[in-house]
Amino acid sequence: MDYRSVHRRSIEDRAGFWGEEAARIEWQTPFTEVLDYSRPPFARWFVGGTTNLCHNAIDRWLPTQADSRALVFVSTETNEERVYTFAELHREVQRMAAMMLALGVARGDRVLIYMPMIPEATFAMLACARIGAVHSVVFGGFASVSLASRIEDAAPKLVVSADGGSRGGKVVPYKPLLDEAIRLSAHKPARVLMVDRKLAAFEPVAGRDEDYAALRATHFDAQVPVTWLESNECSYILYTSGTTGKPKGVQRDVGGYAVALASSMKHIFRGSPGETYFCTSDIGWVVGHSYIVYGPLIGGMATILYEGTPVRPDAGILWRLVERYAVTVMFSAPTAIRVLKKQDPSWLSKYDVSSLKALFLAGEPLDEPTSKWIAESIGRPIVDNYWQTETGWPILTVAHGIEETPTKIGSPGLPMYGYDVRLLHEQTGEEVGANEKAVVAIVPPLPPGCMQTIWGDDKRFVSTYFDSIPGRQVYSTFDWGIRDEDGYYFILGRTDDVINVAGHRLGTREIEESISSHAAIAECAVVGVADALKGQVAVAFAVLKDPADAATPQQRLALEGAVMGVVDRQLGAVARPARVHFVNLLPKTRSGKVLRRSIQAVCEGRDPGDLTTIEDPGALEALKQTVRG
Ligand code: AMP
Repeated sequence: MDYRSVHRRSIEDRAGFWGEEAARIEWQTPFTEVLDYSRPPFARWFVGGTTNLCHNAIDRWLPTQADSRALVFVSTETNEERVYTFAELHREVQRMAAMMLALGVARGDRVLIYMPMIPEATFAMLACARIGAVHSVVFGGFASVSLASRIEDAAPKLVVSADGGSRGGKVVPYKPLLDEAIRLSAHKPARVLMVDRKLAAFEPVAGRDEDYAALRATHFDAQVPVTWLESNECSYILYTSGTTGKPKGVQRDVGGYAVALASSMKHIFRGSPGETYFCTSDIGWVVGHSYIVYGPLIGGMATILYEGTPVRPDAGILWRLVERYAVTVMFSAPTAIRVLKKQDPSWLSKYDVSSLKALFLAGEPLDEPTSKWIAESIGRPIVDNYWQTETGWPILTVAHGIEETPTKIGSPGLPMYGYDVRLLHEQTGEEVGANEKAVVAIVPPLPPGCMQTIWGDDKRFVSTYFDSIPGRQVYSTFDWGIRDEDGYYFILGRTDDVINVAGHRLGTREIEESISSHAAIAECAVVGVADALKGQVAVAFAVLKDPADAATPQQRLALEGAVMGVVDRQLGAVARPARVHFVNLLPKTRSGKVLRRSIQAVCEGRDPGDLTTIEDPGALEALKQTVRG
């Protein structure tokens, strides 16, 4: 096989290509049509086929590998290590599914999962998939306001949560944040299922909250058959940030997602049944959905669920796990590697990582020094891959399962099969030539596994993603990119106001709204500023209602802390700005638009660009002085 002909066929003969790939999963009833694209840009894959994600992740493997490892849970926070075989995972998921049914969850109902990285979170996701309920996992690092907006939009019947998580040895209580979120939300979930880890004491709400351990005992021997779903039914919603303050519910199907993941396991990750996959992401992000939970299990692999940081108890922990479980495929983020780069390098040579076929890195740009350092340190191939919550699996990378295509440092690689990637001029919509910067776009239909729509808002799906490039209905990634003469792409940052902090995607507008809720703040602007460790950090510029509130350095420091505290409480520490500067005026255009790109340029010591539309050039100058301190 060669990459170019496979890619070409996947675009020119979609039905043929994906029809064959679909055989990688098990179907209860075969599909009658590979692709229905009668209502662009909405694509329906494997129409009429019925299948189930949980069946393909667990039941399918029972005849051949019931007693093989399926889920390995390691917590360096609570010093636990537990292994579940496929048979044990099957039993736990059925128990959880029975609990959900008993709590009134039916096919199509939403279940919101707000949990730390513990096995019960995985059971809950797979149990939803089993009974045809739609899960919406919310990252455990988000706080009450972020959570409330997601509860309100997804309108879950049930929330599955835990007393708390732990990060870097510090307990993070979840229950008060959940209770506050439910108080803030107009929608009230009928029931809450609480896993009590005994990390943080909490008060159950009578009539609403159920104890997981007690209910599990009641359903200990439960047998819950799989509910067969039509390929295009909704499997899950995962919220992600965009330009507005309101997160978008990325909605995914069943059959297309299962096929895309199974296919990526073969062609991109080269994982085989019986092997072990270790992804260091979190189940709250898309990487966790695709490559902690569903992808490895659908591929018959064991998956490692790791609660902890890359440096506790020491900087060898990730490699120790690779050695202990003979991990063949590992997936992490550049930030984790940059964190390790600051530690004693001898940790990297202490363990035998020769089982690794490759280390995959994604979520943010992989800089050359980090890429070279890790490749040399572990002596294994490093594979950058570029994708988004919206796509569910890589858009750009190198598919070594198809052909040993060379990689280029700094480039995630080539368009993956199924993705008709183009670089289009932002204003004219014309395709640009080699080495010209333009918007990375995808000509629809999007391949299987990609988002179906925005939950509850087809119109917003079309207007957000398919209306931004003039003259043609194409999917915009909202990333800038260039392509070299050999067809390799390079990603140059977002075209919108989304920022990427340590691989976590955050909307500046949400952070601005949170900061503006502080009583002393009149208005503010948040920008992403380059950071050596995290890729980007959020930096805020706030205008006070009364400048006297921050007249002295002590006042400024106290107010900065107070503003950060508001963001911590509302959105979570993950969204906390690295700095809050107080200014008299925000640089704006004459029509009142904040010049975020110019502010960002000034913060990064770059030329602020075209300022012909600026209302008051003095505002940018003053801001520059403030940044320089
Ligand atoms: P998320 O939806 O949270 O996964 O964030 C997706 C965004 O992260 C993309 O639109 C890119 O801006 C960025 N991103 C993800 N992977 C890469 C990569 N390998 N190289 C550069 N940027 C990336």
